[in-house]
Amino acid sequence: MSGTHTVISNKISMLFGSEISLKDFSFSQLIVAVKNLFDTEGVPGFVKALVILIESLLIKSGVECPHCGKDKHHLHSKSDRKLKTSIGEVNLALTRLLCISCKKTFNPMAQLFDLDKYSRKSREFEKFALETVTDQSFRRSATVINKEAGFETAHSTLHRWFWHTDAVNINQKKRVDFLIADGTGFKRSKDNEFDTNKGSIKVLIGYNKNGEVIPFGAWTRASWKDIGKLIKSKNHPSDKIKFKPIAGTLITDGEEEIVRQLKKLAESHQRCLFHMTHELTPLLRYKDIVQKTKQ
Ligand SMILES: [Zn+2]
Repeated sequence: MSGTHTVISNKISMLFGSEISLKDFSFSQLIVAVKNLFDTEGVPGFVKALVILIESLLIKSGVECPHCGKDKHHLHSKSDRKLKTSIGEVNLALTRLLCISCKKTFNPMAQLFDLDKYSRKSREFEKFALETVTDQSFRRSATVINKEAGFETAHSTLHRWFWHTDAVNINQKKRVDFLIADGTGFKRSKDNEFDTNKGSIKVLIGYNKNGEVIPFGAWTRASWKDIGKLIKSKNHPSDKIKFKPIAGTLITDGEEEIVRQLKKLAESHQRCLFHMTHELTPLLRYKDIVQKTKQ
């Protein structure tokens, strides 16, 4: 991002924000500034300016320190945060506040937007990626089921199911004939040089011989270990009883880590080669991590 762009974007946010003197401000100035912003930075630049505005409103309305709950703070610093989004890379300038009570710093916008401390991608981008990959996974699963189990399941059925499923109400306490585990990576920007630039998406779907489809979930940040543990715990009422596998056959592409973490869930394991398709049909629900549940 060039210096000129940043200057324009900052000017616009000044127009939006409280820093400008309103008596020197005209409607035509706003029009010209917004047009310049769009011409040079497009929608991401506009988003940046909007975020600065929202941030100033948020801080003015009063924010509590997430560490101690007090609401008195000083400005600590401004920092740039690049985020991959579906409209392109957005370069946010976020404010860090210093809590007067506990002397810890926090970032009010990151909290509002649910951005991780080190996250360089928006959840919205993750969701987009997940939707894409889950769709591919459904298509693959449908193909595998047709081939291996001898009954037809159109991937559109899987979609319809996802459409009508409230992710919160997915019932993971189920026994199924087939359990299909599928993971696919997607590219994201690197957080630092040691980081891998691969995110991953993991999908777990159950099928029964009668054609019934049972969703177990889709995750963007959970490990196979977490997922295996979660499904096991949902189906294991007490440690005093021996855990009984919840599926007849586990179907995977043979990836070692998946097999290692999930084989306990099924009586047998079968390796299948999935064939990738590249169609984009979003509209799925997802969870990003395995939540700790009360059960
Ligand atoms: Zn505090």
